[in-house]
Amino acid sequence: VASELEGAAFGEQHIAKGIGRLTKHVFEDGKGTFITTDKGVKLLDMTSGIGVVNLGHCHPKVSAAAAAQCGKITHAQVNIGFSSAQIALLKELIPILPHKSLDTVFLWNSGAEAVEAAVKLARGATKKPNIIVMQGSYHGRTNATASMTRSKSIYGEGHGPLMGGVFATAFPYYSQFGGATPDTPTEELVNQALLQVKLTLQQQTSPSDTAAIILEPVLGEGGYVPAPPAFLHGLRKICDENDILLIADEVQSGMGRTGHMFFVEESGVRPDILIFAKGIANGFPLSGIASRKDLMDLQKPGSMGGTYAGNAVACAAAKAVIEVFREENILDNVAARSEQIFSFLKNLKASGTKAGNLIEDIRGRGLMVGVQFANPELQPDSSNTASREARAQPQIAPKIVQECVKRDMLLLNTSVFDVLRFIPPLTISEDEMTQACNIFKESLEAVAN
Ligand code: PMP
Repeated sequence: VASELEGAAFGEQHIAKGIGRLTKHVFEDGKGTFITTDKGVKLLDMTSGIGVVNLGHCHPKVSAAAAAQCGKITHAQVNIGFSSAQIALLKELIPILPHKSLDTVFLWNSGAEAVEAAVKLARGATKKPNIIVMQGSYHGRTNATASMTRSKSIYGEGHGPLMGGVFATAFPYYSQFGGATPDTPTEELVNQALLQVKLTLQQQTSPSDTAAIILEPVLGEGGYVPAPPAFLHGLRKICDENDILLIADEVQSGMGRTGHMFFVEESGVRPDILIFAKGIANGFPLSGIASRKDLMDLQKPGSMGGTYAGNAVACAAAKAVIEVFREENILDNVAARSEQIFSFLKNLKASGTKAGNLIEDIRGRGLMVGVQFANPELQPDSSNTASREARAQPQIAPKIVQECVKRDMLLLNTSVFDVLRFIPPLTISEDEMTQACNIFKESLEAVAN
């Protein structure tokens, strides 16, 4: 029976407890970089709803496009006919995909569903059963994607058995190698990680059983670590030599987030399958995969689809999103605001203050920015350098997040390591970014002192 409770109290009583929640705010309204709560509190949003509202909350052009579509047709079911909203979107989307071979698309609703679609395509096309994932990766919370997610064991804990045929290998991130530090040369980490991929193929799943290697080109929930170009090139080579498909999960790093429309553009490495979601429709549920026509054509008609796959309203919103990227030169703003926040963070780290000394590493691209803290429990020491990961317990980042929330700013931490991530709307202004930097600094000082 629904209780008489209101707002957050009602939510706590009647909404699934399995949803972890950063705050008890009830979001009522969102415009640009701000969210207003049911109590009228105005929050500076440095989360973009986990990298989704890349054009800010309720971008007028996107909302208008969705509203207009609502007056035409909302449910143009794709197993029954073609959808003109979907065709109009794909005419805009295909030209901005990171490689010309990616010209065939399947649209779905959420990131996890798109990851599942990529796995299904890879297994079906190669007729091979196994998938290699990266240690630290996040691909979703469905059964298959929870099996592929290796950022935190809680995502699979107690829900097994999860989908089989998934093998994890190392991502070139210093916290995942005992004894490594932010100063460990990238080349060394890349060589170690590529060696682990080769060993995975020799020791765990042979190339003849391996359909695909999937990675987030910027490790997301696992710590906001961009893959060095040499790692992506190395993976491409291993895939080519062993008839394995390379899948790029750009659910979080795509749609302008890193200053490129898709992060694989930085290295020029061609994925066989690209996965996108989140920012594609700026808050409407839409995701998808893009691949080569020869691979996609191997699928039997009817084997793909879904009631809401590529919903017409979400497609209309996504088309408007791509137009806004062009019309408002969004990537130029990403470059400028990225420079602003990186230089602020670097100066803070170098300041020699107690707050600055908490920062161990600053990394990322564009407006996908990670800050890792010098957590004393995580420091390699001479007695036990190899147990860095095993001792990992985030301490500092969660406290800073709460200090930011007290100051009406939403910011997320991530990973089992001590990492904070800045993912503001890509439309954030210089003043708003300055405001965010000031709140972050005050919060860091509150934790340091
Ligand atoms: N892949 C990546 C890289 C993600 O960041 C996420 C979501 N955080 C997902 C997949 C899953 O997407 P969704 O939550 O829409 O299912």
